[in-house]
Amino acid sequence: MRVFDLIQKKRDKQRLRSDEIQYLIQGFTRGDIPDYQMSAFAMAVFFNGMESGELAEFTLAMRNSGITVDLSHIGKPCIDKHSTGGVGDKVSLPLAPAVAACGVPVPMISGRSLGHTGGTLDKLESIPGFKTNISVEEYKRLVKEIGCCLIGQTADIAPADKKLYALRDVTATVECIELVASSIMSKKLAEGIDGLVLDVKFGSGAFIKDPKRSRILAETMVSIGTHMGKRVVAQMTSMDQPLGQYAGNALEIVETLDVLEGKGPADTRELTVQFGAEMLVLGSAAKDIEEGRCKIEEVLNNGQAKAKFAQIIEAQGGDPRIVDNRQLLPTTTQRIEFKATRSGYISAMNTEDIGVALLLLGGGRMKTTDAIDPRVGIEMCTRIGNFVQAGEPLCILHTTNKGEEQALQRLKNAFIFSDNKIAANKLYGPRITALDLSSP
Ligand code: URA
Repeated sequence: MRVFDLIQKKRDKQRLRSDEIQYLIQGFTRGDIPDYQMSAFAMAVFFNGMESGELAEFTLAMRNSGITVDLSHIGKPCIDKHSTGGVGDKVSLPLAPAVAACGVPVPMISGRSLGHTGGTLDKLESIPGFKTNISVEEYKRLVKEIGCCLIGQTADIAPADKKLYALRDVTATVECIELVASSIMSKKLAEGIDGLVLDVKFGSGAFIKDPKRSRILAETMVSIGTHMGKRVVAQMTSMDQPLGQYAGNALEIVETLDVLEGKGPADTRELTVQFGAEMLVLGSAAKDIEEGRCKIEEVLNNGQAKAKFAQIIEAQGGDPRIVDNRQLLPTTTQRIEFKATRSGYISAMNTEDIGVALLLLGGGRMKTTDAIDPRVGIEMCTRIGNFVQAGEPLCILHTTNKGEEQALQRLKNAFIFSDNKIAANKLYGPRITALDLSSP
């Protein structure tokens, strides 16, 4: 087989056979296929896509480039959730302990912040001592013993994806639905899960903003998971404004604790309850969404989810006292109010700009090697549909003398005003299951 022929085939819109895909991915993982050929292949996929069976085989080959964790010793269906990411999206943090507290094991492999979107691992690491680089053996033990473990992608989980993602990042081939879907799903399938709930974001702060395109992404991921015999549900949700009250690593832990105490902003709490219910149904711990919602609400209100979070933190080397003493989280006392220069209704937000403002304060990273300051953040003071008087704060920056001017500059176009009353933003888009796919 020659890589040249495989690139040519994809360039000419032909379907690759399973053995060709395996040859390509195995050769690339071993380092036998050079980056320039794999880049050309990625660009051909960018333009010509892949047919659904071909994409499932491509994803499987990426998963098989490393280990697949065997969680059969758990003896129960293991369910994970993945979000395509956004600004202030901390839902995985209250969700994982809430679902585990309801008896469904949650093995969760998460990512780091990149560009304007946040990452679960960075948020967790703002808890003093919390370790996310845990061995696979320890991960398996913790999922069995406490029902949850939250880690990052290890070197032996989907190494082909790790290499290909780095290459896509520098060859303008990231925003390709087939490549995004196979990248996410290869990692998720390597976790050893039985089911997966996907939060596919759309809107101004999402990775893929256009709802039509993010719907295709949702359908593609559901299709791949279904091909692999997994139970997969995708719920599309709006990222037209930051989720909840805070964006910023330690501040998002504060909001997580609010939700785990039965409080918290309505949208963060709602998504925690809804995604939790979906996970309980997939994990056969609730007969339907309604029952699942009641169970999740119960563990949020009675302290069991919070106790589970403390247990997870302790098991992963963190200081569990933070759950009752938020002062132990990294913080800054410096505040800058970003005020409205006119009165009116907030009709829209450029949420990506708010994410970039956070990044400029030090709360995110441009390159995977950049360091993060867990203390900084943005506290939202308004929502789409609210009326704001000139001079009122739209948001408050929690800062440390870094990047404030640039962040304020970036926020200048982030809030769009209207003189007319505007309806509140809808949180949910379509929900997609295998039954909704035309050719699963
Ligand atoms: N997240 C991933 O894991 N992969 C992508 O390609 C994009 C987002």
